[in-house]
Amino acid sequence: MKVILAKHHGFCYGVKRAVKIAQDSVSLEGKAYTLGPIIHNPQMVEKLANEGVGMVHSLDDIRQGTVIVRSHGVGPKVYEQAEEKGLTLVDATCPHVKKAQMAAYELSEAGYQVIIVGEKSHPEVKSIFEWSKNRAIIIEHEAELNDIVFFNKVGVVAQTTFSGEEFQKIVDSLIERVENVKVERTICNATEKRQEAAVELANQVDMMIVIGGKNSANTTRLAELCLKKNKHTYHIETVNEINDNWFNKGINTIGITAGASTPDWLIEEVYHKMNQMENFLGDDLKEIQQGDIVQGKIISIYNNEVFV
Ligand code: SF4
Repeated sequence: MKVILAKHHGFCYGVKRAVKIAQDSVSLEGKAYTLGPIIHNPQMVEKLANEGVGMVHSLDDIRQGTVIVRSHGVGPKVYEQAEEKGLTLVDATCPHVKKAQMAAYELSEAGYQVIIVGEKSHPEVKSIFEWSKNRAIIIEHEAELNDIVFFNKVGVVAQTTFSGEEFQKIVDSLIERVENVKVERTICNATEKRQEAAVELANQVDMMIVIGGKNSANTTRLAELCLKKNKHTYHIETVNEINDNWFNKGINTIGITAGASTPDWLIEEVYHKMNQMENFLGDDLKEIQQGDIVQGKIISIYNNEVFV
């Protein structure tokens, strides 16, 4: 059994930066609070909580101290409110998200009808919406363009983790409908690189494992893209979700990738387990018989598939 890691996987620049900012704030202040989970990875959030990084859902939940704006960013009101309350605000908004926020702000200021392409409920999209002065229209699918009455000039901004291909489809359709379209292609390079590497790998292997928070938009997108290319795709958060029954006779090569908010240690645990499986099932697979005990586990064979 061969285990291959995708060329690009795991923590991106923005997430690494946000985690470091949170850890540095705690070592300076002793305690700090993030506004919402600093990244969409429950295991990393728990680890940071143990180090002293607390979490609040709103500035109303905190009277004093340091509050960290996570990589997804927030709208302008939060900065004003933090100042009014005398809180120390540490901004860990990813620079790519900042760029999307500023694009929405400037388009809105310049009188464009702003369209944000992204997931309506995602915090990053909400923050971009607030920077558009709450004027933007958020869409996720091309078909939603049919419901819009367009102005003369339209500006379009993307959620940083949105699929480049899907975004282009929407832009092409928009250009057919509106004469003056200004496109701000705010999709982040890190996301595209992870998506391309994951799809390339999913095409080559028998099974894909995608590691990352179930609440992580970019990890979920990776899993969706892999699933289109490889029906044996599994989205897991931790090594404990790996099911031995996935590894039957037809599975000889396994690809691993991870979302931009997945820390290295979670990836290493999965990789390590895969290598254990390799030692366990590997070349001996053909020799295994019903009822054999291998490394303390009983082998059963059903429909020519091996289960441990
Ligand atoms: Fe920033 Fe891109 Fe990472 Fe999002 S995926 S935090 S935009 S570097």
